[in-house]
Amino acid sequence: MTQHQPNADVDHPVASGDNSNSVAATRSGRGESAAFDPDCELCEAARFTHWYYEDELCWVADCEVCATPMVVWKQHGTQPPADELAAMLARLVEAGELRFGPEGGRVDQVMRQIPDHFHAHYRDADWMSRRWMEPPSRYTGVGTPRETR
Ligand SMILES: [Zn+2]
Ligand SMILES: [Zn+2]
Repeated sequence: MTQHQPNADVDHPVASGDNSNSVAATRSGRGESAAFDPDCELCEAARFTHWYYEDELCWVADCEVCATPMVVWKQHGTQPPADELAAMLARLVEAGELRFGPEGGRVDQVMRQIPDHFHAHYRDADWMSRRWMEPPSRYTGVGTPRETR
């Protein structure tokens, strides 16, 4: 979503010089950053479950499938720069420890369901059974007390 069509908000076409075709070279086909895929669930970032955190870089919410905290990059791509990756994982651990206590789980960076958009889970030992037992959380705002349905 970085391409702006220069919208004709003038009454008549004005010769605009030669700056029309100077689109910056896109990196080998699909750029790794600054991307948005309208068909991607993580780009859509629907707010159904509890949201722990959000900033310019990422958001952390309960995964709708696993019900554990999940950090999602705000770029459609798989390779965040190292500093951004570290920042995101730190936010994820904060959310995970808020939920499960200090060292209550571990980061899982395997992207099973959506392999082309960076995200990572924080899973405690019981996440598999608990996701069937516990009611799902619900969205009440970012960083609010976690509520279930
Ligand atoms: Zn995406
Ligand atoms: Zn999940």
